[in-house]
Amino acid sequence: MPMQAVRPKILGFISEQASAWLVALVVFLAGGALTLIVAWAASDLYQQQVRQRFQLLVNERYTRLQERFDDQEQRLNSIRRFFVNSDEVSREEFDGFAQPLLLRTRAYSWAPRVFRDQRSQFEHAVSQQRGVSFVIRELNTAGELVPARERDEYVPVLYSQTQSLLGSPLGFDLLAQPLRRSALERAQKSGKLAVSQPMQLVGVEPAYATGVLLVAPVSHLPTSDQSQNEPFGYVMAVISMRQLVADGLPKPERDNLVMQIVDTSDLDKRVLYETSNTVGSSDLLGARRLTLGDHVYALTLRPSQVFDQSNHSSLTTILTMGGLLSLLLGALLYVLVSQRQRAVKLVEQRTVQLRLREQELRGAHGQLRSVLNAATQVAIIATDLRGVINTFNAGAEQMLGLCAQQVVGKLTLESLHLAPELEARAASLSVALGKRIPASQAMLVESPDNLHEAREWTLVREDRSQLTVTMLATVLLDDHGLWIGHLAIYLDITEQKRAYEALAARDRLLKKLSAHVPGGIFQFTLEPHENWRFIYASDGMRDIYEIETGVLQQDAKKVFERIHPLDLERVRASIRLSALQLSHWREEYRVLLPQRGLRWIRGEATPEELPGGGTLWHGYVSDISDLKRVEEELRALSITDSLTGIHNRRYFQDRLRAEMARLNRTNGALSVIMLDIDHFKRINDKHGHAVGDAVLQELCKRISERLRRTDVFCRLGGEEFMVLCPHTDGEHAYSLAMELWQSLRNEPMETVGIVTASFGVASWRIDECIDGLLLRADSAVYVAKQAGRDRVEAERLRA
Ligand code: GH3
Ligand code: MG
Ligand code: MG
Repeated sequence: MPMQAVRPKILGFISEQASAWLVALVVFLAGGALTLIVAWAASDLYQQQVRQRFQLLVNERYTRLQERFDDQEQRLNSIRRFFVNSDEVSREEFDGFAQPLLLRTRAYSWAPRVFRDQRSQFEHAVSQQRGVSFVIRELNTAGELVPARERDEYVPVLYSQTQSLLGSPLGFDLLAQPLRRSALERAQKSGKLAVSQPMQLVGVEPAYATGVLLVAPVSHLPTSDQSQNEPFGYVMAVISMRQLVADGLPKPERDNLVMQIVDTSDLDKRVLYETSNTVGSSDLLGARRLTLGDHVYALTLRPSQVFDQSNHSSLTTILTMGGLLSLLLGALLYVLVSQRQRAVKLVEQRTVQLRLREQELRGAHGQLRSVLNAATQVAIIATDLRGVINTFNAGAEQMLGLCAQQVVGKLTLESLHLAPELEARAASLSVALGKRIPASQAMLVESPDNLHEAREWTLVREDRSQLTVTMLATVLLDDHGLWIGHLAIYLDITEQKRAYEALAARDRLLKKLSAHVPGGIFQFTLEPHENWRFIYASDGMRDIYEIETGVLQQDAKKVFERIHPLDLERVRASIRLSALQLSHWREEYRVLLPQRGLRWIRGEATPEELPGGGTLWHGYVSDISDLKRVEEELRALSITDSLTGIHNRRYFQDRLRAEMARLNRTNGALSVIMLDIDHFKRINDKHGHAVGDAVLQELCKRISERLRRTDVFCRLGGEEFMVLCPHTDGEHAYSLAMELWQSLRNEPMETVGIVTASFGVASWRIDECIDGLLLRADSAVYVAKQAGRDRVEAERLRA
């Protein structure tokens, strides 16, 4: 199943491939959107609640104010009724009736109508009643109370019950003042309550000065024939708007509402009352109409800052909290997704690794099995910790003649071994290790002296026959490094051992034989790239070259270091030639040895070509120094005259032949000087043969002393001698002969006195043969004899 198909999705829809940042952003944006929706809904609800709360407050305020207004009307009506229903109302009665009603009313007054003709009488009567002068008064332009001017009618304040400490302006004619007058006229006309325009109240504290006058006409009860009687006076209530409206309401700083009252009939729309608190930010507005008498007042209510504060919107909180929550959720998801992605990636990596390992393991297991079964020449046996066999390969079956089924789980490794051998080994191990080693473990324990070395053991086959094996035992460990058993590998070396022993016997034989052979026997290879090597070198080789055989087998070049420099190149060349032509190698050469000095060696070897391109020689070397010495002596004897010690005729002839050969190649000079002792027979005869011999020896001595190093002096026989002078022309040879003649004849010899000889000189001519030259020399001697002896005669014969 492909990995993609099982890949889970975060929250059911976000692919795990998606970037953690993207997921976090989406969640944050979704949270933000949700917050906005909730905030919008909450805001809507809030607006609604605020509006409702405000409406409630407005209604409550309006109801309370209207009640107060109605209450004012009712109380004034009750005072009016009091006047209507009484014949005469004294001042005390008025005070007694009106005083309890002074609630939120500045003053109640009674003002009778006084006509022009009644004025003085009225003033008089009141003065008498009160005991003080009473005059109907009015305000002059300076604002002072002065006696009222003459007019048809007056409505002076007669009784007044007031809260004001200033007292009431008794006698003040209400008609003198236009606003009051207008109210009175309206009241008179309608017969009902009338309210003045807003005015500044007289005799009231300035804070409460703005107010209205509520006037009620007082007339006698109407009779049946008249519907309306003319009023005979007026009762009035002086109402301070502030007192009426604000008393008993919350203080402005705690009031939820900002209130404003305007008289609708006032053309200037002056504000009758206004609370001092500040309007809040809301645009809510409550408008009501309050009625008092014949006036309608516009009541405007707005929410104050206090209202705003007490109805604080939770919008900011919701937005803040929502935003924060979204952010946190986004961050949380980012962490979760990124961690999960990391975890998933890790799991994938591990899964791939595990799969690879599994494959490797499977491969290795298969390989192991194949190896076990393929190794038919090797017995591979594994045991558990108790030594019981649990693996027995095909090689083991073949080697021991047992099949795996007979062995696995049934036999121990010990049972396959030869018991006495195991016991002996166990005993020696116990001694070496200082602790008891059981026989069952003897083949597994390594002795401290040869660790990791295959040992030889004897195994017993099914048919009780024995075989020799080498065994390598290793400890088997499991994955956790715990010891779970042993693995033993056996190699049958019975045949190998037999072959080895045969080889060793041959080796011994060879050693013995070679010890009896003079010189050394060797096998030598020359491989491509100049690799000289002794494969085999017998002990004799050490004596020949004074080099250890071990060194020789490692480095054959040591031999060449011993060979005389003059012979070295020749030896090398002959070896190469032998390799090239596969021809028998035979060479005699000198060696310079550290102990025995210069020795002559003879080597002989037969080459054969190696498959790899090299050459192998089988051969021997022997010391021929003695032989060489004898040979040298013999050779010297064969060319030396035994009596005189100088060269003999044979040597002369050889040399002459060699010189002639050289002359034929190079065209040089060559001369011979021949001499014959004069009358030698007489010396013999006179002094005896021995003296004759001594004369011969003395002559040779004298001549030799005079000769040059290059001259060759020979005795041809009897008393005849020849001097061979290479590179010498006739002239030089003649003078040499003269010198020799002089040396002989100038000094006498012992016993015999002066001995003379006849000399003949001959020089080589181009294309002349040996005999020609010798004949001419001989002729010269003959001529000298003939001429009387004791002289030097140059050549006479012409070729
Ligand atoms: P001529 O002057 O003519 O040469 O006279 P000659 O006597 O020297 O010549 P001749 O050939 O007649 O004599 C040579 C003698 O030398 C004869 C022989 O006895 C003698 N003679 C030859 N060989 C030896 C030798 O080895 N030892 C001695 N003592 N005498 C020898
Ligand atoms: Mg002679
Ligand atoms: Mg002679």
